[in-house]
Amino acid sequence: MKLYNTLSRKVEEFQPENPERVKVYTCGPTVYNTAHIGNFTAYVYWDLLIRVLRLNGWHEDRVLNITDVGHLASDADEGEDKMEKGAKREGLTVWQIAERYMNEFLADYRALNLLEPTQICRATDFISEEMALVDALDAKGLIYETSDGLYYDTAKFSNYAEFAQLDLAHLRAGARVAFSNEKRNVSDFAVWKWVHDGEDHAMQWEYRGRMGYPGWHLECATILHERLGEPVDIHTGGIDHIPVHHTNEIAELEGAYGKQMARFWLHNNFITVNGEKISKSLGNTYSFADLAKRGFSHLDYKMWVLQGHFQSERNFSFTDLASAKQRRLNYRNFAALRWQKPATDMAAVRDMITAQLNNNLNSAGALAELDKVIAENTPDEAFVKFLDEAFGLDLAKNTPDISDEMKAKIAERQHAKDAKDYARADALRDELAAAGINLLDGADGVIWQFAD
Ligand SMILES: [Zn+2]
Repeated sequence: MKLYNTLSRKVEEFQPENPERVKVYTCGPTVYNTAHIGNFTAYVYWDLLIRVLRLNGWHEDRVLNITDVGHLASDADEGEDKMEKGAKREGLTVWQIAERYMNEFLADYRALNLLEPTQICRATDFISEEMALVDALDAKGLIYETSDGLYYDTAKFSNYAEFAQLDLAHLRAGARVAFSNEKRNVSDFAVWKWVHDGEDHAMQWEYRGRMGYPGWHLECATILHERLGEPVDIHTGGIDHIPVHHTNEIAELEGAYGKQMARFWLHNNFITVNGEKISKSLGNTYSFADLAKRGFSHLDYKMWVLQGHFQSERNFSFTDLASAKQRRLNYRNFAALRWQKPATDMAAVRDMITAQLNNNLNSAGALAELDKVIAENTPDEAFVKFLDEAFGLDLAKNTPDISDEMKAKIAERQHAKDAKDYARADALRDELAAAGINLLDGADGVIWQFAD
């Protein structure tokens, strides 16, 4: 299996350290708001990753974190706290906000038929472990205190610029104006923030005799260390995480304990909507509820995502979503053929699909292989199961055999047609269509299909 590794900027052959426990860490959502469809692109691609690991016979131990503790709205250490903002907007406590949007996220996650992570970890359950990591950084002399909190001295971590290939000199020059005079280096970041007198911050914990709260990057470093142990085989996240969030996770964990954090880093690219960045002000932050109103399911969206590649920037449009939906329905009717015709040998197709997926998760290529053969072939139950394992489009579950009553109607229509009783034949066809079953007359007899 080959994967593009951000660490080396190359496509590399992937082998887990332990095939029985492939350690995968996925940076999860901040649960303060309804997620838009663009947020889920990553989880569809990382689900594909897990499916391909399984196709290779490996077993994953996968952690997804849920950021339910406030961190600041921007990557900088200033600005508004997302959780606090959500709480004020809705007149709820930050804890209620976290609960509401975590449940909403998980409901969408499951409706997308994404494989359940082995462990889902909430940041607020790891506060004392986060403090222990700060202590470890302190013991290595990597942090210093300002009036604002505890900061990481990035000049003391010699590999700091390496992962993101940062140009620190350029960064420094560009940031001269906004540079806080208490920070030693422009790239220094807060590992722990103090709550100041009169500051309205609901989530706070006592540490070193003062009330405060953790910086964002600390939670991933901590949870990965506690639940999987470094190095993990694969760490995943969005490309926007490379220069700040992941760079800082590495500085924290590798700085504190001296071991490599992850062997492979996978980063997904972004989607735009009708050529524009997804943003509130443009009104294009579509949720799955918005898609449902237009007649599209979670699985239609998943199909659209799988038509692309995790490293490519993609543009979303409802026209393309409609094509993806049609393609998914075509696959469903292909799966339904297993009730109607003798199966053909599809072993070679299975191998070609697997080979495409093993080539850096090329799901678009894998689906193209499938498209080439669906008109001429009939799957058996095992092949449909294989497709479900590979793509998670729930084809088997959504293609139950039709009832004996419907089958009798199809046979009766055929008799009516043979007897040239076209009025009766058409009436039966309409009855079946009303029940969601369409008939397709072909050279070798009639085929039934699901209407939508
Ligand atoms: Zn993270």
